Amino acid sequence: MTRSRTAPNGVLVRGGGFAGAYVARLLGRRGATIVSPENFMLYTPMLAEAASGTLEPRHVVVPLRVMCPHAALLLGRAVSLGPPASQHAVRQARRLARNL
Ligand SMILES: Cc1cc2nc3c(=O)[nH]c(=O)nc-3n(C[C@H](O)[C@H](O)[C@H](O)COP(=O)(O)OP(=O)(O)OC[C@H]3O[C@@H](n4cnc5c(N)ncnc54)[C@H](O)[C@@H]3O)c2cc1C
Repeated sequence: MTRSRTAPNGVLVRGGGFAGAYVARLLGRRGATIVSPENFMLYTPMLAEAASGTLEPRHVVVPLRVMCPHAALLLGRAVSLGPPASQHAVRQARRLARNL
């Protein structure tokens, strides 16, 4: 099923990693929609500590909804871009969405 929606303020951020999460956070109340397969940002510099057990894994992830309280989160993967360039196709992660 194909559904169409417009991103608030016309800003769509592809990926909720370092760049995407910080852009959405800095946009603040101006709003944005983040498309991300995960609902968290992974703090990669601390991965080694999580893997070795000196840090709990939950301490190296930051929930995107907490980090970017004014952004909408669309769980899924961006699969194509345009035309027109403002139109993105997103494959939603149903299993993830059910778990939220
Ligand atoms: C183990 C490790 C340790 C590191 N330590 C450091 C360090 O100490 N200092 C440092 O400066 N850098 C470090 N880095 C590098 C740093 O993590 C990267 O430079 C940084 O994450 C790049 O940010 P980014 O936003 O470009 O990509 P990412 O943070 O990788 O974010 C990309 C996001 O896009 C999402 N995505 C991918 N495809 C799609 C799609 N089709 N649709 C929607 N979303 C998508 C991914 O799920 C991901 O969330 C480390 C990296 C690793 C792996």
